[in-house]
Amino acid sequence: MATVEQEQVEAKQEAPSNLIEVENPGTGEIIATIPDLDAAAVAELAAKGRAAQPHWESYGFQGRARVMLRAQKWVMDNAERITKTIVSETGKTWEDAQLAEIGYAGNAFGFWAKEAEGFLADERVRSSQVLVLGKKLILRHRPLGLIGVIGPWNYPFTNSVGDCIPAMMAGNCVILKPSEYTPLTSMLIAEGLRECGLPEGVLQIATGRGATGAALIDQVDMVMFTGSTRTGRKVAAAAGERLIPCSLELGGNDPMIVCADSDLERAANYATYFSMQNAGQTCISIERVYVEEPVYDEFVQKVTEKVRALRVGNSEGGYGTVEVGAITFPAQLDVIRDHVTDAVDKGARVLTGGNEVPGKGRFYEPTVVVDVDHTMRIMTEETFGPTVPIMKVKDVDEAVRLSNDSQYGLGASVFTKDAEKGEQIARRLESGAANVNDALINYTVLELPMGGAKESGLGTRHGAGGIRKYCSQQAIVVTGRAMKKELFMYPYKPRTSKFLAGLFKLLYGRGERE
Ligand code: NDP
Repeated sequence: MATVEQEQVEAKQEAPSNLIEVENPGTGEIIATIPDLDAAAVAELAAKGRAAQPHWESYGFQGRARVMLRAQKWVMDNAERITKTIVSETGKTWEDAQLAEIGYAGNAFGFWAKEAEGFLADERVRSSQVLVLGKKLILRHRPLGLIGVIGPWNYPFTNSVGDCIPAMMAGNCVILKPSEYTPLTSMLIAEGLRECGLPEGVLQIATGRGATGAALIDQVDMVMFTGSTRTGRKVAAAAGERLIPCSLELGGNDPMIVCADSDLERAANYATYFSMQNAGQTCISIERVYVEEPVYDEFVQKVTEKVRALRVGNSEGGYGTVEVGAITFPAQLDVIRDHVTDAVDKGARVLTGGNEVPGKGRFYEPTVVVDVDHTMRIMTEETFGPTVPIMKVKDVDEAVRLSNDSQYGLGASVFTKDAEKGEQIARRLESGAANVNDALINYTVLELPMGGAKESGLGTRHGAGGIRKYCSQQAIVVTGRAMKKELFMYPYKPRTSKFLAGLFKLLYGRGERE
């Protein structure tokens, strides 16, 4: 069995003109070279996946769960090796890789292994339809066949391999197209799954650029996409052309509301951690904060002190080296710089940070910006960097209005000591998730749906919907003992037709019109 490293060397020998260099954003070094697969190569993978699918489906839930539970153990046994790989291709800190990637995956393998059958088992349906009295009615969830998963660069384990787990547990084969910037984690996990007994062809990795992703959509029965709203539109259009289902997890610009009656210390810790964690490159990171006037100054002071204390840089030294890691995607640094510059040009003040870190690697200083408003891109667009713009509002109504003044609607958070009031505010927010006195935590709850409102996505991951989307529904009606023919059949006779008209009136015509 070839290792990831061997595969990289072989790829180099086989297709020297068709290669992608993978960079370590923390050092600027090239750490690997991977193949850029063309449409013909993707079609070959698809043929292999389709051939493998019936056998994988025949494993049943128990058989598939055994492989996933072995994979769960494999991930824990190899946590350090996986973390190193994630850190090397993303430049994130060891802690960010541990908590949101290893921790997520460890939970996810076990969750789907245990829960898939419950979500997808045949359902016996009872009906109020008199025509099917005595018949057996079944709702069946049938695997779609071959699923294409296309992932972003910010969480190469969680948001790429993570979506493959329920797809496989449903009995599908999967082709994963990781981001061209972070393909190594997916390749390593696929290798681990083979070690755990996953049959050949069940999970294949199609490395390449955007064109490889586009070619994948042409081959599969359903596409699960995580990435920007811009690319998400293209994916939805391509899926629409082929009339295949797609599920889209897209960008966000998550608001945080700090009420005057909140625990300010907790709110400041949350604003700091969840705007800076993963260097702000999290779809549901806190992107903008609205604070009620009476506590604004104190809150700003607390957050500024906390952000100023953060260490930024290369985390290859291991745990505890720095709090804020690298900017993974080269062009993201331009976006962060542009948003801060645009805000300052329009009157905002930078209280700490605001600059790129000179030297090797790609880093941006943890940054607090105040005197911001909705004329500024840092408030209305996804910055996806270690920035926290804080805006003063006169009351909760203004905070809610500004929170909802966005094309996005992924996550949100509200801080107040009055939990009931917090819940009422959460219900007014136009977002797929809202946390009260918390942030992002909903993502870790695999029983809850995770998905975006507005332009943040279509469909959900996690929960029942997060696995049923990889299946088609089949309605089965079984008629056992029966008469030779039904009353409504030919020949039509006035007596039977009148009887049926009376029956319908009796069944459905007894209500009031008011
Ligand atoms: P992109 O949209 O740039 O890329 C996502 C994936 O799509 C990559 O693998 C990319 O390949 C591929 N791709 C590019 N063009 C096409 C195409 N025409 N057809 C099919 N696939 C294509 O997103 P990023 O990688 O920049 O990820 C960051 C974004 O992801 C942010 O907006 C973030 O909010 C969002 N995100 C959303 C999450 C959610 O759960 N809602 C979770 C995590 C991130 P390549 O990289 O090789 O160009």
